[in-house]
Amino acid sequence: MLIGLGLGVPLVIAGRAATHLGLAAWHQRGGLPPVPDGFADDAGRFEQTPIAERISIGNADPVAQIRDAFARARVQGRPVSIAGARHSMGGHTLTKDALVLDMLGCNALALDERGRLRAGAGARWSQVVEFLAGHGRAPWVMQANNDFSLGGTLGANAHGWQHDKPPFVSTVESLRVVTSDGELRECSRTANAELFHAIAGGFGLFGVVVDMTVEIVDDEVYRSETIQCATTEYPEVFAQRVASPDVRMAYGRLSLDEHRLFTRALFTTFTRVPGATIEPAQRSNAMWVARAVFRAQTDSDYGKRLRWDLERWWGSEAGERVARSAILSHSVSGFSNRQPTRTDILHEYFVPHRSFVGFVAAMRQILPRHAVDLINVTIRSVERDDDSLLPYATDRMLALVLLFSVDHTATADAALADLNRDLVDAVLAAGGTYYLPYRPHATAAQFLGAYPQAPEFFAAKRRWDPDLLLRNRFFERYRTQ
Ligand SMILES: Cc1cc2nc3c(=O)[nH]c(=O)nc-3n(C[C@H](O)[C@H](O)[C@H](O)COP(=O)(O)OP(=O)(O)OC[C@H]3O[C@@H](n4cnc5c(N)ncnc54)[C@H](O)[C@@H]3O)c2cc1C
Repeated sequence: MLIGLGLGVPLVIAGRAATHLGLAAWHQRGGLPPVPDGFADDAGRFEQTPIAERISIGNADPVAQIRDAFARARVQGRPVSIAGARHSMGGHTLTKDALVLDMLGCNALALDERGRLRAGAGARWSQVVEFLAGHGRAPWVMQANNDFSLGGTLGANAHGWQHDKPPFVSTVESLRVVTSDGELRECSRTANAELFHAIAGGFGLFGVVVDMTVEIVDDEVYRSETIQCATTEYPEVFAQRVASPDVRMAYGRLSLDEHRLFTRALFTTFTRVPGATIEPAQRSNAMWVARAVFRAQTDSDYGKRLRWDLERWWGSEAGERVARSAILSHSVSGFSNRQPTRTDILHEYFVPHRSFVGFVAAMRQILPRHAVDLINVTIRSVERDDDSLLPYATDRMLALVLLFSVDHTATADAALADLNRDLVDAVLAAGGTYYLPYRPHATAAQFLGAYPQAPEFFAAKRRWDPDLLLRNRFFERYRTQ
């Protein structure tokens, strides 16, 4: 009897988990409906916009191709928008009836004589990581996934698991850009400095970046380790565990189920293993399981508990030896939604380390008041950004990245907008900011609260592009002049 119970209970638990994962995988069949001809959209799928034409910019004399496109737009009286991998979510790559420059074909890669990366702005990180790994090198700062273009990464001034650096622009030494007058300009911190600082996090409003020179680092082997702590201890645990310079990357995650909402954190570090040999990256068969567990959280408190418990028991990557280039080789397709009636939406909030615990407590109060489905929260640290004209890292910040699964309806987008406005109020009260490439839910007043430099930013836009040739929906929503 006791033996029967001893075997029976685990079997029932495993059976429930397997049924739940199977059902969730079944809902993920199908795929997203295509965007109709003559329209374009972005990763959030809420910005479907009619466009005049998509123009692919390639590696054969991209400057001439961009100048031609500008000339055509002027003759036709149309605006120009710039698109990389289109993973922004607020129409940052779109304007109604625009000529849209698709930069992905402008992707030549080389190492210069000083070992820095020289990259076409349309190169995706997937191409860059593979190219650099062949030379024993790897990116220094990039996002947590590899789908994005370098131009789009600079346009948002992105960041990732590199905890001891400011955002991406801190690794960009110089760039070449075609401004709206058709001039090709070399920009750096010493040449055309105003333009350089405006382009970083400037969302394609100051010119088309053709290529850039980027500082990179050695590819190395890391040992990853995941620990669990109370969220209230997170800043302290973070400070202790990244104290060694051998800790090269770090990120955290928060518990999401109703009972433990935001109270527990998993913290993962990647520590250099000196002298270890880099093995060719191995694709793990566990990837599809990880995807199933991740998606099974959708609309399910049981699914959220299951993921937390599985990761708590096994650790997300604990103990594994992994090359830096392998960590930076994951596509968003590994976890992104495929259910035709839903979409994934991100929001991100930055707070100084000292304000983290208070902000998370505010999030815990605010979230249950809104009918939205939050399926992931990761935490990163980013150093202060003194480069960009619209900086989100105004201090040494902890970033909370919130991923929501929402119905693909205007009502669901509006519900998320309400939540986001409450969270933006809370983050501003905590002395923080929020990230601009996601849904433009924040009000104009909140935008100005987070980015008081905005009037200066838009004045610079007027100086560099007096006819407003380069436009997008983000600009149209938030412009102050
Ligand atoms: C699933 C997902 C995960 C993400 N993870 C992270 C993360 O870990 N960290 C992070 O910081 N962000 C993250 N992001 C946000 C992402 O980094 C930004 O949206 C980034 O801009 C995406 O790059 P892209 O090539 O898709 O850019 P796009 O969306 O194509 O463009 C972004 C902006 O850059 C401009 N631009 C693009 N190319 C050029 C060019 N050549 N010249 C001038 N302007 C240009 C565009 O006009 C636009 O305004 C994530 C987004 C998604 C959807």
